[in-house]
Amino acid sequence: MRAIAAALGMASLMASLIAGSAQAQTIYPIDRAEILAGSRFDLKVEFPGLVDPARLSVTLNGKPYREVFGRDGTLIEREAGLEQSALVLRDAELAAPGRYVVRASDGVHSADVSWTVYGTGPRRAKNVILFVGDGLSLAHRVAARILSKGMKEGKAHGRLAIDDMPHMALVATAGSDSIITDSANSASAYATGHKTASGAMGVYADRTRDPFDDPRVETIASLVKRRLGLAVGVVTDTEIQDATPAAMVSHTRLRREYDRIVEHFFAARPDVILGGGLANFLPKDAAGSKRKDEQDFVARFRDAGYAYVTTAAELAAAKAANNGKLLGLFNLGNMDGVLDRRFLKGGTVERFPDQPDLTEQLGAALDVLSRNQAGFFLMVEAGMIDKYSHGLEMERAVYDTIMLDNAVKQARDWAGARGDDTLILVIADHSHNIGLAGTVDHDPDRKPDRPLHERVRIYARAGFPNYPAPDAAGYPPSVDVSRRLAILSSTPRGSVHSAEDVILTATGPGSERVRGQLDNTEVFRVMVEALGLGDPTTTAQGR
Ligand SMILES: [Zn+2]
Repeated sequence: MRAIAAALGMASLMASLIAGSAQAQTIYPIDRAEILAGSRFDLKVEFPGLVDPARLSVTLNGKPYREVFGRDGTLIEREAGLEQSALVLRDAELAAPGRYVVRASDGVHSADVSWTVYGTGPRRAKNVILFVGDGLSLAHRVAARILSKGMKEGKAHGRLAIDDMPHMALVATAGSDSIITDSANSASAYATGHKTASGAMGVYADRTRDPFDDPRVETIASLVKRRLGLAVGVVTDTEIQDATPAAMVSHTRLRREYDRIVEHFFAARPDVILGGGLANFLPKDAAGSKRKDEQDFVARFRDAGYAYVTTAAELAAAKAANNGKLLGLFNLGNMDGVLDRRFLKGGTVERFPDQPDLTEQLGAALDVLSRNQAGFFLMVEAGMIDKYSHGLEMERAVYDTIMLDNAVKQARDWAGARGDDTLILVIADHSHNIGLAGTVDHDPDRKPDRPLHERVRIYARAGFPNYPAPDAAGYPPSVDVSRRLAILSSTPRGSVHSAEDVILTATGPGSERVRGQLDNTEVFRVMVEALGLGDPTTTAQGR
């Protein structure tokens, strides 16, 4: 009995030691972070209590941090006015690849994390195009194939451009705080190679409430500009300040800080910015504005040399004029998907009748960006796939998947005509909690008001849907048919993100690294490898 009591006592001591160690210092970047050699990051150590500066020590592989980085950080004695200190060193860089053990001590407690700094081989790709289907799931993909290619006796009449690529991998999507990711920390993992928490991008989420003081990590948009002189393009059909496009340039804990994210776009000055979201560019008193201040970012971008367009016709004209940087904002909020623009005229199409297609946005972006002799990085998002899926508007999501596929085909044809100097990646940022369960009976003669679960046909009874043959762009001209696809969510009021891996397909120089199963942070690594961003000889010229 006594032995058991002693063992229990031991167990509770162990438990309290473990709990005690959770009170130790928190170090950013976090344990097992993988850091591109020469990329910039903020080192932050959060101490649980007040620190005596004389007893504080932070070392990398046993060397004081100020010797490694060549300068002192800032000690915040009472962070956020509380009994807690923090040490911050902004814009740190480690040039030498290897393993770094970082140890922080306040003289009593210490904690350590381990980082891997990696270099790359020489540059192999001139350009990188990253396509992101926001929320693109396997169900969307299979449905897009059935609708746009058609199927007879179980065999599709063709492949999607997304599928017909030489390299493929599964990609894990979890964030640093949850197995379920959102578009902010997912896109941030692709853009920076670092994990972070839900809602955050370009930063680690620290303990303070301020959404702009968190320790930052460098984005690929910044890296390619700073080290190689590449042009940068950000293209989407959602609001440009929404999570996926914003993660290419922004550093914030809170993705909904739209006004500030527009400021981050202005600070980063990508050469091409195309999407929706005009509302946060307009000064407070302007019609349709959602800004909380008087700043006019349309005027500021124009003053900074950007051509500014708001319709498909203006975009085509700007493309023909062929000079300078390009800002296109085609809707106050999100742009309309292709099913509304081309067929149903729903959504906000009446108010914004001349919004470009993603393929037109891509065409204009390629025109502007390819003028840069050094090459470019371009992110293209089909973002409404996610929005429509949340609202269970599955045919809209599937039509936008076909649109994404058309854009991918266009990019591949463009790259092929240049001798394949461009790495092209197509990926989702997360899946949705949906499945393609069969078909839905909408036969008007068979009680069309029956509840959905009675109309869903499964197994052999599902048969094939009867959408009309697709037009030249791959879209069936009507969705008003008697046997539609049943893409169902397990949450009846709306779909939610799921934890499943997403599919990455790739072609072009550097794409052979895409195989098997990867972490989302490794998507960044595939891109920086292809561009040789960790190769001291390539990057030296760009500095
Ligand atoms: Zn979503």
